[in-house]
Amino acid sequence: MLNFLKQVGDYAKETAQAAKFIGQGLSVTFDHMKRRPVTVQYPYEKVIPSERYRGRIHFEFDKCIACEVCVRVCPINLPVVDWEFNRETKKKTLNHYSIDFGVCIFCGNCVEYCPTNCLSMTEEYELASYDRHNLNYDNVALGRLPYKVTEDPMVAPMREFAYLPKGAMDPHDLPKGTQRAGRLPKDILAEIEAEEAKKTPANAAAEEKSSS
Ligand code: SF4
Ligand code: SF4
Repeated sequence: MLNFLKQVGDYAKETAQAAKFIGQGLSVTFDHMKRRPVTVQYPYEKVIPSERYRGRIHFEFDKCIACEVCVRVCPINLPVVDWEFNRETKKKTLNHYSIDFGVCIFCGNCVEYCPTNCLSMTEEYELASYDRHNLNYDNVALGRLPYKVTEDPMVAPMREFAYLPKGAMDPHDLPKGTQRAGRLPKDILAEIEAEEAKKTPANAAAEEKSSS
C-alpha cells in the first residue's frame, strides 16, 4: 500500500513539473506573438554595426615599425610582416604586410597589442568572395577604409536592435533623429573627463591617502 502511495506521489510530482516546463516554453512563444517581425532588406538596408564591432582590420603602413608583436600575440601567428634590416639607419624597413581574412578569427589581439596603433578594427563585414585567395589582404588592401553604413548613399541605415529606444520593436518605424537607448561612447568619455576635471589636486591626494 505504501509503495502504491509513493508511486502516486511521484507521478503527481512529475506531472506538476511537466506542466511547469510546458508553461515556461509557452510563455516564450506567447511573448514572441506580441512582437513584430523585422526584416532587413539587405543590401538596400543595413543594420548599423555596434561601436565595438570587430570587422575587417585596417592597417597604416607608415606607422608600422615591423616589431612583429601582432604575430606573436595572434593565436595562429597570422599576420605576415616582411621586413629587412637597414644597416645605414640601423632600423627595420617594412616591405610588405598582409593578413589572410580567410583564416583570421577577428579576435582583435593584434589590434590590442600593436605598440604604434597602426592596426584597427573596422565595421566592414562584407568579405564574401568566390576565391579564398582574395581574402589574403596585402598592405594596400588593408590600408583602405571601408564605407560606413551611415555614409553610404546607396544604403538605408537601420539602428541596431539593441540600441532601439525603449518600447520600439521595429527600426523601420523610427522617425529620423530619435534618441537611441544607451549613450554614445563619446558622451561617456565626455562624462569621464568632466568627472576627472572636477577632481582637485587636494581631493586626488586625499583619495590616494585613504586608499593607501
Ligand atoms: S604590432 Fe603593429 S607595429 Fe608591430 S609589426 Fe604588427 S602592425 Fe607593425
Ligand atoms: S584578429 Fe586575431 S586572428 Fe586575426 S590577425 Fe589579429 S590576432 Fe590574428
